[in-house]
Amino acid sequence: MIPPLRRIVAVCSLGAALAACGSAGPADTARPAPAKSSASASPSTARPPVLAPGPGGLTPVFEHGPRTLGKNIALTFDADMTADQGPRAASGEHFDNPELIGTLRTLKVPATIFMTGSWADQYPAEARSLGHDPQFEIANHSYSHYAFTQDCYGLPTVDADQMRADVERAYTAFRTAGVPHALPYFRFPGGCYDQQALRALNGLGVTAVQWDVVSGDAFATDADAVARQVLDGVKPGSVVVMHCTRSAAPTTERVVRTVVPELRKRGYRFVKVSELIGETTGQH
Ligand SMILES: [Zn+2]
Repeated sequence: MIPPLRRIVAVCSLGAALAACGSAGPADTARPAPAKSSASASPSTARPPVLAPGPGGLTPVFEHGPRTLGKNIALTFDADMTADQGPRAASGEHFDNPELIGTLRTLKVPATIFMTGSWADQYPAEARSLGHDPQFEIANHSYSHYAFTQDCYGLPTVDADQMRADVERAYTAFRTAGVPHALPYFRFPGGCYDQQALRALNGLGVTAVQWDVVSGDAFATDADAVARQVLDGVKPGSVVVMHCTRSAAPTTERVVRTVVPELRKRGYRFVKVSELIGETTGQH
């Protein structure tokens, strides 16, 4: 549990990046009244729960929620888009997945979207729609989707002195797109991080969010195999990583249609990452 004052400082240290502490950016001033919460009671958007920093202020890492506080699990969807993929999108490649988002809405599955700033630049209307829908929360997946370590699935690498700026640039892109409350959660591209990467983000107030269940949906063509991997992997408190990019994860919508009813039958409840972090810190 983080003492209330410290929590406020931690959240506000993200400051203008989140527009969560009264700072007024263009998107902030244009923001409509908060949408009414319907699908699930979300924690206060103004002060989302975060993990306390580690020794020396080190950026904390969250992998899953408590195993013994009920059968809550979080589906997370990465909206990947590497900075140099803009021309590919312009020539017709789909890095978004409206059908998947539609299915999540139909099935009323709360979810956390780890969005790259490049994606928000490419699909601002979809980013804004997700950002205003209380069923979803938008978190940060970097601006460029460049790796924060060497040797990360062949991704280009962001220099250590540019890491912080890359994360802040994504928050700026969200505000520009009209996303009002991006969360102080950051997912490293490819999930690749080391001590240097964690240190580079010290003081930003973000909690790094990994996962404990890999769906395997990236570049998969067999929806049943992906669904099995999810169903076999989840435990109470699990964080499942999936993608909401049609071109790189074409089976994900079908996987969701399979696993959601089955997991509900098994007694699982879908929550956002903020709720699992809140359970972990006692802030729920
Ligand atoms: Zn990614």
